[in-house]
Amino acid sequence: MNHIQGSLIYEGKAKRVFACKSPDKVLIEFKNDATAFNAKKRSEIKGKGRLNCKISAALFELLESNGIPTHFLELHSETFMIADKINVIPIEVVIRNLATGSLCRETPIPQGTILNPPLLDIYYKDDNLGDPILTEERLKLLDLISMIEMEKIKNITRSVNKILKEYFDSLDLLLVDFKLEFGTNSLGKLVVADEISPDNCRFWDKKNSDPKGRILDKDRFRQDLGGVIDAYEEILNRIEKTSSKTT
Ligand code: UDP
Repeated sequence: MNHIQGSLIYEGKAKRVFACKSPDKVLIEFKNDATAFNAKKRSEIKGKGRLNCKISAALFELLESNGIPTHFLELHSETFMIADKINVIPIEVVIRNLATGSLCRETPIPQGTILNPPLLDIYYKDDNLGDPILTEERLKLLDLISMIEMEKIKNITRSVNKILKEYFDSLDLLLVDFKLEFGTNSLGKLVVADEISPDNCRFWDKKNSDPKGRILDKDRFRQDLGGVIDAYEEILNRIEKTSSKTT
């Protein structure tokens, strides 16, 4: 694997993207930086980059093995992965199985309400605007993608949710909600991009009924609950236990 770490193409809040030997690929570095509330709250959490990189790689592999196209190609090291170079579609797709977070802040829906069918929300990816939620009409008005492409994105998101929900259920974890990003690769193919980790998913431990104790994701950072890295480590440990069972 002689991928030269080339020039920095882009630096985001939690990742850096570098050029690769091949023009169709990029190297993505997962940083230890943590941000919340549109980067108003910031910190460095030692070990987070490694955990999110490994968790994302395992979950992208799981999705690929279930026929979901992703940008993931291979792990390069503990904090770097090689992925398709993509054109990012500037939307964030959130799917929710249980009500919490912004849904409960912005509507009278009580915490923990089961959402069946899961609720799918589309946001406009723009930090300056605070990632506003989009109505279908506003999405059409912005003309970011065709409605056919949007339907594909919604269907892929629902399939990803089904696969991940079932998988995490078997690890005694409730998949509360998560955010996906999408892009098109050099072949024009629509792929799931970014990361899938406790930074952009909510996980509740089924073995713990304490409403704070059960949280195993970035809400520990958002709500100053402590034990952030232990929670992320617990997610990776449970994933690795299942993969050692199947190999
Ligand atoms: N999320 C994310 N990035 C964002 C906003 C949300 O990854 O910019 C994830 C978040 O971790 C959660 C889901 O999307 O798993 C739903 O988040 P919500 O809309 O409830 O917002 P929050 O309460 O985090 O402000």
